[in-house]
Amino acid sequence: MTMHSKLMVGNWKMNGSLAANASLLSDVLAAMADLHCRSAVCVPSVYLAQVQSLLVGSSIGLGAQDVSAHDMGAYTGEVSADMLRDFAVRYCIVGHSERRQYHAESDVLVARKAQRALAAGITPIVCVGESLSEREAGQTEAVVKRQLAAVIHANGHCISEIVVAYEPVWAIGTGLTATPEQAQHVHAVLRAQLQAASSHADRVSILYGGSMNAANAAELLAQPDVDGGLIGGAALKAPDFLSMLKTAS
Ligand code: PGA
Repeated sequence: MTMHSKLMVGNWKMNGSLAANASLLSDVLAAMADLHCRSAVCVPSVYLAQVQSLLVGSSIGLGAQDVSAHDMGAYTGEVSADMLRDFAVRYCIVGHSERRQYHAESDVLVARKAQRALAAGITPIVCVGESLSEREAGQTEAVVKRQLAAVIHANGHCISEIVVAYEPVWAIGTGLTATPEQAQHVHAVLRAQLQAASSHADRVSILYGGSMNAANAAELLAQPDVDGGLIGGAALKAPDFLSMLKTAS
């Protein structure tokens, strides 16, 4: 269990428009008054400026979905951690399975991205998770530990400043959710690994992601080592996102 309140993060992925973002956030912000969990939205980088201004004065943190592993220079199409910082970005997802899968991101690259974010004062949300075939082959623990170990190896001295998201690949966008027991088991493994690396591991929030929704959030969040959620599809609907923020408060 972390020392912090629950953290609920919406991952908008490649969704949204100027009009849709404004409408979604105005509905969410209108109902935020009694909610006490920590929250953030990770938006496509072209919308950071818009969402930064929409969130002024609110308690919702601004997040990005990726960051370059490089500082600056000739890296066409990349966005650096300092650029994200210019827009008051507080969180940045690194190593989402969609980037590992479609952009061949390695554990080492993900670890470097986490390093860049930390150096810019941005909290990396480090995603780990096994595929269905890895789970069926009994490799779940080995896979998530390998993925987290790369980040610990590169960031040992400030590892307590990260957020970890356990996202079983087979549960993302599929409507299949890990059972609360499956999630807790992997979260406990990740917690032990963080504890072995840092005496401040209780500062690290470990989020669950993968088809979390308004109906299943409560039982997942009731697990001792589930410190919040990384929510894709259900974060695009204001009533669903609000319901999950309420459950976490
Ligand atoms: P999902 O996505 O909630 O739509 O399954 C979660 C994620 O990929 O972060």
